[in-house]
Amino acid sequence: MIRTRFAPSPTGYLHIGGVRTALFNWLFSRRHGGQFILRVDDTDRQRNLDETLAPILQGFRWLGIDWDEGPEVGGDHRPYFQSERGALYQAAVDRLVEAGRAYYDYARTEELAEERKLAEAEKRKFIYSRRWRAASDGDRERFEAEGRQAVVRLEMPREGECRFEDLVRGNMAFEWKGEQDHVIQRADGTFLYHLASVVDDHEMAISHVIRAEEHLSNTPRQIRIAEGLGYELPRYAHLPFVAEPGSKNKLSKRKLDKYLKHPDFARLTLHGDEIARAIGLAPDAETFNPVIIDFYETVGFLPSAVLNYLLLLGWSLDDKTEHFDRAAMIESFSLERVQKAPASFDPTKLMSFQERHMAGLSVDKRAELCRPFVECAGWDVAAADLVAIVAAAGDRIKIAGDILQFAEFYQSEDELEYDAKAWDKRLARPERAAELLGRFRAALADLPVFEEAELERAMRFFVEREGIKLGEIIHAVRVAATGKSVGFGMFETLAILGRERTLARVDRALARIATAETQS
Ligand code: GLU
Repeated sequence: MIRTRFAPSPTGYLHIGGVRTALFNWLFSRRHGGQFILRVDDTDRQRNLDETLAPILQGFRWLGIDWDEGPEVGGDHRPYFQSERGALYQAAVDRLVEAGRAYYDYARTEELAEERKLAEAEKRKFIYSRRWRAASDGDRERFEAEGRQAVVRLEMPREGECRFEDLVRGNMAFEWKGEQDHVIQRADGTFLYHLASVVDDHEMAISHVIRAEEHLSNTPRQIRIAEGLGYELPRYAHLPFVAEPGSKNKLSKRKLDKYLKHPDFARLTLHGDEIARAIGLAPDAETFNPVIIDFYETVGFLPSAVLNYLLLLGWSLDDKTEHFDRAAMIESFSLERVQKAPASFDPTKLMSFQERHMAGLSVDKRAELCRPFVECAGWDVAAADLVAIVAAAGDRIKIAGDILQFAEFYQSEDELEYDAKAWDKRLARPERAAELLGRFRAALADLPVFEEAELERAMRFFVEREGIKLGEIIHAVRVAATGKSVGFGMFETLAILGRERTLARVDRALARIATAETQS
């Protein structure tokens, strides 16, 4: 049985690179009819666990990456929190000590620092001398009588190599002599990640450890632990980093300021910022960050587009296939086609996937996705009108949050604000603006039906009758009706507003012009 896992530390956010790692684990298990386990790496027990785990679980739920075992769903290998698995780790430490694979070490911090300094002076790599290793119970008593405290260290080989096959990187060899005697249990009794992870992978019957490249160099010590405990080794696959836009460095949430110098990244962030502001969410640098998955949910990306994009960050089926739905992803995924080189995050490409996935949805579906944003903004938009707005806006709505820009005109007449420049250019300055608008109002009032085609016909007729250019009236009507000079089709806009609201808006604009004229 193929069993994979993703083991996040509860940090309060889900990094986009972490999502990619989880996705590959999930796809691999789904591809082979296996199971995907979520395990919480909280060896350093935290008080605010719920708070720091929630955004991570929510990220996966939003993306539709489901887990067969783990928090909330339970499973045969519970608990899935490392902080609750101490007894297992203690038993493993005891066995390693008994087997001579680990030892109690009583060195004081200053003593280790001294050894380190000496190595530096002699220009050699520091390797602990094991001087304060307790070889017997007698040693332990003696050291403890001196007021010393023990950590437990692995006793690493000092010659030879650790060899293993990595399913992405091929045959690996690490010299043992470069390895420290890593600590597996601290003096306060807490356990370290390497030990906990190996014990859990074994206890949870993980067949494939698929994780970020930064753990490659941790693998020899983990293999050493596993072998010391007599475990069968899992297969390993180390994935390349998700790199910064246009570079090979690891993408980091802390470097947002730097990434914003990249025009594509800045565009994505700015786009998100506008949406966030419109729904009254102050974009705070900590979580409102395109390196973190929350960002995409907040501004209305489609999970399918995000997944499709992340799939191709370090994996490809061939040179040409780019678009995958969930079923196709599962069917096509293989570890053999994961690349070794870091894949750099490209916001523009992500956006193009988003646009394409959005375009593939029905108008009703897009309206349904847009609805929460309209509600969040506190706007009351009738269901049929929302569908009409979404249809009229067409592919201008790239992410669901864009609806805010296109539905703004629909707000109540009393709140309509006029863009100052548009007002000035289209209604305040042209000499005949009020006169033409007033006459066109009469035409609108007389229309037998207030529909798009009819409105268009009426305007053409009006332009001809008045002997004016279309531009002399159409922009004025738009600014009067929506407050802005941009938007989707004018006649669709008026039809959505309906006769009564359109006339009320025209009247409001006319009154405003009149007031300005009497004041000047
Ligand atoms: N909690 C570890 C991390 O966040 C898990 C590493 C692993 O997959 O072994 O990187």
